Amino acid sequence: MNQDRYDVIIIGSGFGGAAAAYSLAKTGLNTLLLEKGNWVKRDETAWNPKDIFINKHYKSYAPVYVNQNNNGTQEVYFNEVVGGNSIFFGGVALRFRETDFERWPISYMDLEPYYSEAERLLEVSGEPGLDPFEPYRSSDYFYNDLPMSEPSRRIFSASRALGFKPFKLPLAINFRNNSKTLCIKCNTCDGFPCKIKAKNDVTTTLLKRAQEYKLKITTGSIVKNISDDNGTIESVTVVDKQTGKEYRYSSKIVILSAGALQSPGILLRSNLDKYPQREFIGKYLMRHCSAVVSGIFPFKTNPDKVFHKHVGITNFYEDFRNVTNTSVGMIQDVYMPEGETVKYYCPKGIKTLAAFFAGNIQNLMCIGEDDPVKSNAVSLSGIRDSFGIETIKIDHDFTKNDYKRRKYLIGKAKIILRKTGSIFSFSHGIDEHIPPAFAHATGTVRFGKSPETSVLDKNCKFFGIKNLFVLDGSFMPSSGGVNPSLTITANSLRVSDHIVKNFDEFQ
Ligand SMILES: Cc1cc2nc3c(=O)[nH]c(=O)nc-3n(C[C@H](O)[C@H](O)[C@H](O)COP(=O)(O)OP(=O)(O)OC[C@H]3O[C@@H](n4cnc5c(N)ncnc54)[C@H](O)[C@@H]3O)c2cc1C
Ligand code: SF4
Repeated sequence: MNQDRYDVIIIGSGFGGAAAAYSLAKTGLNTLLLEKGNWVKRDETAWNPKDIFINKHYKSYAPVYVNQNNNGTQEVYFNEVVGGNSIFFGGVALRFRETDFERWPISYMDLEPYYSEAERLLEVSGEPGLDPFEPYRSSDYFYNDLPMSEPSRRIFSASRALGFKPFKLPLAINFRNNSKTLCIKCNTCDGFPCKIKAKNDVTTTLLKRAQEYKLKITTGSIVKNISDDNGTIESVTVVDKQTGKEYRYSSKIVILSAGALQSPGILLRSNLDKYPQREFIGKYLMRHCSAVVSGIFPFKTNPDKVFHKHVGITNFYEDFRNVTNTSVGMIQDVYMPEGETVKYYCPKGIKTLAAFFAGNIQNLMCIGEDDPVKSNAVSLSGIRDSFGIETIKIDHDFTKNDYKRRKYLIGKAKIILRKTGSIFSFSHGIDEHIPPAFAHATGTVRFGKSPETSVLDKNCKFFGIKNLFVLDGSFMPSSGGVNPSLTITANSLRVSDHIVKNFDEFQ
């Protein structure tokens, strides 16, 4: 056993883990953050599509086994770095809507003050008042005036001409704070680390602030499992990725923030059989039933290669609420990858053609809410990695209603692209993506009112264990119809506040 005993151990440094690290360390709690990835390099590789997508510089040390639509199992390697997916995210920082909380054990107003805090800490720029389904907000954005580049302006004008109400997407990107590097609006943002640290990922925001307090970050530390003794987590077992040596750490409180794919894996590898909610761990995986709709234009759509994730359209958000008890989702502007990346990922036969036309394409992303289904799940694969740790397997299949909502959004996106000037459009679903994408994974360790339906209580504490919390995308019982990061961050700030206020209760 390692001699150090901490007040708090946090496993994973994405939005959920970093927000908890900031919130808890700043109160003076002695905090250890365990992360299996290493720090990202801010060099020329950061913006090189070949290094990031083809050579996969940040590829995880072990695969995840994915069985999608019952099509057989594939080995998939996700990225692994300090900051988690915040390093690669597209910067969109939207709040869920009031109606998205109907199936949650907390209301929108319980989270609202923490949304404001999350926007402040992530320095989100936005222009309130244009989004027709924008929820109530008690505070203004960090900065108000957002730029809009030419490709976005075209989408914005066409949507308006069609009678929709486009709005500027709120972004956790530094366009205005002169004390830091300003965004140069490049075309390698979504999916890439920011070479100049202008994207407000958690290493430049929450973790940077947290490091001013008693926070120790240990990189290359793979958490194997946690050990429970009669309702208390006694220790966390870690393997050092460099040496293969095993260590154990202990703390008063353990926060699991390894993301919606790996957090259930760690729980399943731990000795938690006696808890009645064990059957729900890893279940109800959601990922958004998204699609990219590509329009082909008779001109170069982004000749200056500028950033253009600027436009959001939520007009259809509530169109299915009475039919499927969910939102439909929304449409967003999204960039077109470089020809080289397109060529690499396209099916044989159309590689060269697709790469040639890449410059004439403009895309819209349809983010469709997906149903929480018990059989969509993370489980243990039975296959061990090079350190003898059992890896995870994902089984996932979208429902008929998921496809119905997506089809509806794709139809609207095609209308917008046509009005923008496209001569032909086609769509590409997230489940057709190679390798399979789980960028918006949520739901696998859901919170709720009782252990008969959920793993965590409303404060994301594991039912029956007094000092274990799960703070990442796993907690969500429904996926909403907008990107998840701001909600993950706000919820982590909310629960961390609860932990600080009631710290003695959890000993
Ligand atoms: C390309 C891309 C673009 C995106 N764009 C947006 C966007 O614009 N807006 C938005 O809201 N969302 C976006 N998302 C989604 C968003 O990034 C994720 O929802 C969010 O980052 C998830 O945060 P998290 O804290 O739940 O987990 P993660 O970010 O997955 O963090 C988990 C961390 O735990 C670590 N970890 C895992 N297992 C272990 C272990 N055993 N031991 C130690 N450490 C471990 C991981 O390495 C990782 O650092 C995007 C995602 C991607 C991939
Ligand atoms: S668009 Fe801005 S924030 Fe994004 S990678 Fe480029 S410089 Fe960084």
